[in-house]
Amino acid sequence: MTNKNLISEFARILGKENVMAEEADRQAYSYDSAMLPPVVPGLVVRPTSSQQLSHTIRLCSLHGLPLTVRGSGTNLSGGTIPSSSESVVVVTNGLNRIIELNARDLYAVVEPGVITADFAKAAAMKGLFYPPDPGSQTVSTLGGNVAENAGGLRGLKYGVTRDYVMGMEFFDAGGELIKAGSKTVKCVSGFNLCDLMVGSEGLLGVYSQIILKLIPPPVAQQAMMAIFDTVESASEAVSAIIANRIIPCTLEFLDNFTIRTVEDFRHAGLPVDAGALLLIEVDGHPAQVEDEAAKVKEICRQNQAKKIQVAQSVEEKELIWQARRDALPALARLKPTTILEDATVPRSQLPAMISRIKAIAEKYRLIIGTFGHAGDGNLHPTILTDKRDTEEYSRVEAAIDEIFDAALGLGGTLSGEHGIGLAKCKYMENETNRATIEYSKRLKSVLDPKNILNPGKMFGGRDDG
Ligand SMILES: Cc1cc2nc3c(=O)[nH]c(=O)nc-3n(C[C@H](O)[C@H](O)[C@H](O)COP(=O)(O)OP(=O)(O)OC[C@H]3O[C@@H](n4cnc5c(N)ncnc54)[C@H](O)[C@@H]3O)c2cc1C
Repeated sequence: MTNKNLISEFARILGKENVMAEEADRQAYSYDSAMLPPVVPGLVVRPTSSQQLSHTIRLCSLHGLPLTVRGSGTNLSGGTIPSSSESVVVVTNGLNRIIELNARDLYAVVEPGVITADFAKAAAMKGLFYPPDPGSQTVSTLGGNVAENAGGLRGLKYGVTRDYVMGMEFFDAGGELIKAGSKTVKCVSGFNLCDLMVGSEGLLGVYSQIILKLIPPPVAQQAMMAIFDTVESASEAVSAIIANRIIPCTLEFLDNFTIRTVEDFRHAGLPVDAGALLLIEVDGHPAQVEDEAAKVKEICRQNQAKKIQVAQSVEEKELIWQARRDALPALARLKPTTILEDATVPRSQLPAMISRIKAIAEKYRLIIGTFGHAGDGNLHPTILTDKRDTEEYSRVEAAIDEIFDAALGLGGTLSGEHGIGLAKCKYMENETNRATIEYSKRLKSVLDPKNILNPGKMFGGRDDG
């Protein structure tokens, strides 16, 4: 940003130490976890109070500056890549207080920059449970989780971030404070602005406080690893578990390529010769756990599981679960470019989707490791490539188009949890229709008439509001 007066104005509001104008500092905020071209912003600012956040947005609005809020930048859809060299990136790591943790009424009030796992730990210290556990939980922020409606390993039984957002305070595009939802279990006062804001990817407002629901933890759990010779039998087992009306808390899938890569990285004792693995956990009342665990084992055996290994301790389970969380970083070590997709299908279509991904990998001669939240029908086919190899990369692009066509053709969706951002906006009309895109754009233009909040995401190219 060349306007020195404006930089001084931000420094006056936020303190000099919270305004980063040097090229090297700005470059660090030019990209996120999606493999997309970086854009260096004009300025990076770090408010440390709600009031500072409001002033920051007001100043951006006054000068028509595009503004991208950034939690930890772990999103996989380009949601925090600035829209232009004029953009102001607003980092939330200075807004990281747990304001209230209410064990009597089972809720907490947090600022958006609180790290997900730190919050879950704080809740656990009070004997309470915050279930959403994205694989990135030790780094991601609650604000980023809400804006992407993040899921996690426990999504199948406990739901996703949306299911835990009771209310929030956020600033609109002019910096005005808006209040949505409440600390009560029920609240139907006015429009459901809270639900509108969840998953809004920084396009409609900036959260300053979030009210999150907490629940009592389950008293018993049993975790197991079911080992299969083929991906087909593992995916049939997932469909059968759900069809038998059993909802485990975790039901994760890893194919052989992912198993071998993760084992090489974590040394958790995964069976490297397995065609596929299911990591399964049931929890609840002890009697229910025993009953459901027995049924799950039986269904896995009926679907040709060659071995079922029950975790004998919390440590043993944690090691295997961590290995699953390592899937993306482990795969990412193999090639310069990692493209992780998020195609999601109705659970009965999981076997069909897995075969389609296998066929697409063969057709385009690509390495695709597949893992994911199988119980949610949410797969992460991960393509390992090198973007500099233009011939291979054109095959990658064609494969991605086909993966999404396959998911939509099976009644699925473009994104189960990673959001649309920049990465998937070109496919949005395929899932919805033109009228839906226009309707969403009208909503955006009413709530953000100057189009300053994270412009260019969700609906189209970078210049498209
Ligand atoms: C290894 C790895 C594993 C992952 N596993 C999962 C997983 O299991 N499940 C899953 O759902 N995702 C997963 N992700 C994706 C990612 O971690 C999530 O999308 C997460 O919610 C992003 O949090 P963040 O703090 O990094 O947000 P950022 O990436 O910084 O931002 C994400 C979006 O939120 C917006 N935003 C941030 N703060 C605010 C605010 N205060 N107000 C308004 N908008 C805001 C940003 O503008 C942006 O659009 C994974 C990513 C990695 C790298």
